[in-house]
Formats: sequence, structure tokens, C-alpha cells
Amino acid sequence: MTDTVDTAALTAWLQEFAGLISAGKDLLTRLDSAIGDADHGVNMDRGMTAVLAATRDETAATPADLLKRTGMTLVSRVGGASGPLYGTAFLRMAAAAGDAATLDARGFAKVLRAGLDGVVARGKAQAGDKTMYDALAPAVDALDTALDAGQPLREALRTAVRAAEEGRDATTGMIARKGRASYLGERSVGHQDPGATSVTLLLTAAATALTGED
Ligand code: ADP
Ligand code: MG
Repeated sequence: MTDTVDTAALTAWLQEFAGLISAGKDLLTRLDSAIGDADHGVNMDRGMTAVLAATRDETAATPADLLKRTGMTLVSRVGGASGPLYGTAFLRMAAAAGDAATLDARGFAKVLRAGLDGVVARGKAQAGDKTMYDALAPAVDALDTALDAGQPLREALRTAVRAAEEGRDATTGMIARKGRASYLGERSVGHQDPGATSVTLLLTAAATALTGED
């Protein structure tokens, strides 16, 4: 079995993510109102609505082309801390995709890890800082481990989603050390991080849209 991720599959991933962000907008805003400034849902929905429109208006030539345009749209439209963070993630993903017309399962995992590296390069978050890193990093690691163990992409992505969900849930008990929530110090404990919540939706969307092919 050869898992193949082409531009159409990645487009479906972004469209699915846009739908989950739209449906989760109020939740993300509510989470950000507890430890931030109540704009994460609005920020992400504005950005992903623009990405969604772009995927409908223009057909990307390659995975890198699609990922790069997505990154640029998010940088310019999302604002806040998360715009540059998500934007950099997608721009790094584009660079990692190179000029390939399709990615195999390993190739997609490498692209996702490049996105994680972009988040770290931009925001300098470490494990336990109560950010999107705390959901994304375990998911990227779990994806590699699952592929190493011979799981097909579809199954490996489901494993990665579970890791993201566990990481997201664990942010509730953490003290925020990065971003706006860090101003609250210990008062940030007891609240789930909005960015860890939205990035878990990115993984969930991948597991739905990137099922691979026989
Ligand atoms: P802002 O905080 O500027 O209002 P958002 O509300 O859109 O931006 O995004 C907040 C989310 O951004 C947080 O929940 C956190 O996950 C993420 N975040 C903030 N700073 C960092 C950072 N330095 N590294 C990684 N993620 C961060
Ligand atoms: Mg905010």
C-alpha cells in the first residue's frame, strides 16, 4: 500500500480545517477570553475563510504552492500571535515540500515537522509553556512513531490526533509562559490553551481528509 498526498488532498485538508475552525469559533473565543483577549476564534476564522476562498478561486500547481499561499494568507489575515505562528508553520511546510508533485506518508510527516519547527523558530515555545506547541509537538512525534511501526497514514494520523488531544488537555494544568496568557502567571492554570485547541483541529482535519490511497 502506498499512501499518496497530492495537492487535491492537501486542499481538502485545508477546507476541512476551515470548516472545523468555523464550527469551533465560539469555543476558541471563549477559551481565549479566559486567558487572553477573546480573539483567537475570530482571528483563525478570518484567516481560514480567506484560505478557503483562495482554494476555490485558484488551483494550486503543487503542494508547496498551496502551502506557501496558505502561509502568506494567514500571516496577512489572522493577526495576533497566532497569525505569524500559523503563517510561519505553513511557509516552512511549503519549503519542506520542495517541488514534489505528491508526498508519501513520510513526506507528509516531514512537512508537518517542518511546520512545528517553524512555530518554535518564530515563538520559541518549549514543552510545558501552555501553547499550541504542547499539542502539535506530541502529534508530530506520534505520527513519526506510528509510521515507524508500519501504520498506514490513515491510522497514523488517528494516532497523532489522540496525541494532540492529550497534549491539548494537558495545557489546562500548565502555567502559561508564552504569549498573552503568560501575563496571568499562575492564574492561567485551570484553562485550556486556545492555540493548542485550534492546532488539534488541524490534526483532526488531516485525519479526515488525508486518508491516503491504496
Ligand atoms: P493573541 O494572543 O495575540 O491574541 P491569538 O489569541 O490568536 O493571539 O492566539 C493565542 C494563542 O497563540 C495561544 O493560545 C498560544 O497557543 C499561541 N501562542 C502565543 N504565543 C506563542 C508562542 N510564543 N509560541 C507558540 N504559541 C504561542
Ligand atoms: Mg487572543
